[in-house]
Amino acid sequence: MSAVVDLHLHTLASDGRLSPTELVRLAASQGLKAIAVTDHDTTDGLAEAFEAARRFPGLRIIPGIELSADVPGDEVHVLGYFINPEDAELQAELVRFREGRVDRAKTMVEKLGQLGIHVEWERVQHFAGDGAVGRPHIAMALVEAGYCQEPKDAFPEYLGRNGLAYVERVKLTPAEAVGMIRRAGGAAVLAHPAYMNDMESGIASLSGIGLAGIEVHYAKYREDTIRQLARIARQYELIPCGGSDYHGMGNSDECLPGENGPALETVDRLEEVAVAGR
Ligand code: AMP
Ligand code: ZN
Ligand code: FE
Ligand code: FE
Repeated sequence: MSAVVDLHLHTLASDGRLSPTELVRLAASQGLKAIAVTDHDTTDGLAEAFEAARRFPGLRIIPGIELSADVPGDEVHVLGYFINPEDAELQAELVRFREGRVDRAKTMVEKLGQLGIHVEWERVQHFAGDGAVGRPHIAMALVEAGYCQEPKDAFPEYLGRNGLAYVERVKLTPAEAVGMIRRAGGAAVLAHPAYMNDMESGIASLSGIGLAGIEVHYAKYREDTIRQLARIARQYELIPCGGSDYHGMGNSDECLPGENGPALETVDRLEEVAVAGR
């Protein structure tokens, strides 16, 4: 399937490997009509993305963000669309989250060291550059040091929630994440619901926190998963959203921007919800 909208994309501002300019060019070459730049805990890539998109009048850029929240025994990501990147309260919280990311990543590197897995913090910093540091940057350092074939291999054993080097993040509940996004003028959407331990009950428990939508189309979701999520979206009156979650990380199973995504009208629906909440 090839989509015209991709509402989930990362850049060098967090754990993507393309600059915002490169991402915009790639999106345009993929024939996309609208994309959301949704970096983890930062809006730093947005200005460059908007600037780059001036050369592609047929491509609309939606200002976005992805926040990580925790529920007992599980992790949930919340996407924000049409947020105001100038919002001072939002930016203050994002600074706190990014500082927490540095402490967390350093502790994970220490834990790896205790396991006899030696990566230099400097290499993690190198991969993160000026962006918000994340587990994928540690994974890249592990690949470079020869401990893994590709970044995703580092998760089951070391960096994933049940991995030996896992460290908790700055605490945020899904409801708090939604609140942050809404106070910054945006619409909140539950990311990749099928990663939850129990998708049906997970979405049910989050249905009252003010979400505008859920990702129905995502990366390599199979047709039956998409159908199930579309049904759940209808049941809770959530806008069916989605995108590729493109990082360009070098994992062999990664899909390209636009390989998957929702209908074009989704963009206007999300904007209406965002504007109505202001
Ligand atoms: P962090 O923001 O530091 O908690 O890292 C989360 C990011 O790690 C996600 O956005 C993905 O890019 C990546 N990630 C998480 N789990 C996996 C996995 N099992 N395989 C590959 N990448 C993963
Ligand atoms: Zn990521
Ligand atoms: Fe995510
Ligand atoms: Fe993502």
